[in-house]
Amino acid sequence: MSQYDYDLFVIGAGSGGVRASRIAAGHGARVAICEESRVGGTCVIRGCVPKKLLVYASQFAESFADASGYGWAVGESRFSWPDLIAAKDREIDRLNGIYLRLLDSAGVELHMGRGRIVDAHTVAVGDRKFTAERILIAVGGRPFVPDIPGAELGITSDEAFHLEQLPERILVVGAGYIAVEFAGIFNGLGAQVTLAYRRDLVLRGFDRDIRQAVSDGMEGRGIDIHYHSEPAAIEQHGEALRVRFSDNDEREFDCVMFATGREPYVADLGLESAGVRLGPGNRIEVDEFSRTNVDSIFAVGDVTDRIALTPVALMEGHAFADTEFGGMRRPVDHANVPAAVFSQPPVGCVGLSEEEARAAGHRLRIFRSSFKPMKYTLAGREEQGVMKLVVDADSDRVLGVHVAGVDAPEITQGFAVAVRAGLTKADFDRTIGIHPTSAEELVTLR
Ligand code: NDP
Repeated sequence: MSQYDYDLFVIGAGSGGVRASRIAAGHGARVAICEESRVGGTCVIRGCVPKKLLVYASQFAESFADASGYGWAVGESRFSWPDLIAAKDREIDRLNGIYLRLLDSAGVELHMGRGRIVDAHTVAVGDRKFTAERILIAVGGRPFVPDIPGAELGITSDEAFHLEQLPERILVVGAGYIAVEFAGIFNGLGAQVTLAYRRDLVLRGFDRDIRQAVSDGMEGRGIDIHYHSEPAAIEQHGEALRVRFSDNDEREFDCVMFATGREPYVADLGLESAGVRLGPGNRIEVDEFSRTNVDSIFAVGDVTDRIALTPVALMEGHAFADTEFGGMRRPVDHANVPAAVFSQPPVGCVGLSEEEARAAGHRLRIFRSSFKPMKYTLAGREEQGVMKLVVDADSDRVLGVHVAGVDAPEITQGFAVAVRAGLTKADFDRTIGIHPTSAEELVTLR
């Protein structure tokens, strides 16, 4: 009989925590999980899933506008933000229910409340204490908001999902994933959107051709992008928010949304009492088996110093459970993780950008195509999609695939298998295209 209440206690029932607990329970472990908010975590409750529903909603405006080119006469359209939010909430409730049932049917005990580590084998949830042989931290992250006067008048993506009305004039601050995705959502739904970014081009870290295509596409859709600009102060001015920018320009908005990054949710988690080591940005340092510096404590997902994406957290949680409870040895491999940005135009990419490949010392051959998607011909839209292959000139290996334009995320998933498998440009060339698609460009680039 074990000296502990559980074999595994998981703190945080988001993507990584739920996956790890279910798999561990499936391997026969006695598992408990705690959650202070709603089971499902950032992705399901206030991230990827509701965001994508809002993206779908916002794309109707473009479809209505393009329909006449295809012979349709579309009547007057009317959009209701409260109806959309209510429909989205119903879907999130449904998914939350599925997650609850998944835990239940796996035999995982759920304790509602914020978990706090007391020592290397003890977690407190409210005034109850539980002991476990292993503890997994999967608490994820929280939005980071810069410390400027009036910042509290702004919102983050967390609140954007629950606004009562669609703001008429909105300022989005930042130019990462969340900023460009929400700028596209609000713009598509009819708001007047301004995006302020402190540097020179959206989506820093992505391939520069893709960044330029997204920036052009956003501006082409009417988003007002201000580069080298960020808010210095915000104050309430009647119903509006008056924003003073770093260049002293002043403008009024109905809503300011900070999309200025996310930080690990480690506050008051008791990490110090257990001696868990944090790295830069307060991210928990872990090895390839998600082990912290404390033998019995592990961490997966956005709270760690790895890649903050749901499928990565799922993989980390699964591999942890298989390794610790399933008798397998599964290190996690973060090479060639594909990613998508549901901006408008959307982005899909896997592998190295041209800039990263050059910095790593590769001699490169670059294949690039810029073209108008067929869908836009009759619609009369001028936007160009971009497809790009980054190829190592010496080995012929395809190091990176980058796509911006219609269906980019869907296209990229399959090509991620090719990059992951280490295929060469000659392999791409040998592959017959599917006609007529945008994706065929990637196997016909010469
Ligand atoms: P990102 O790190 O992607 O972007 C943050 C943005 O805010 C950058 O443009 C950054 O500028 C800017 N910024 C940071 N600090 C400040 C500051 N003090 N003042 C002004 N601007 C600032 O974070 P997000 O919040 O967009 O997303 C968080 C993470 O969530 C992503 O990294 C991603 O892993 C994940 N995510 C994934 C999605 C997907 O898969 N589609 C969707 C949404 C989120 P700079 O470039 O100068 O640093």
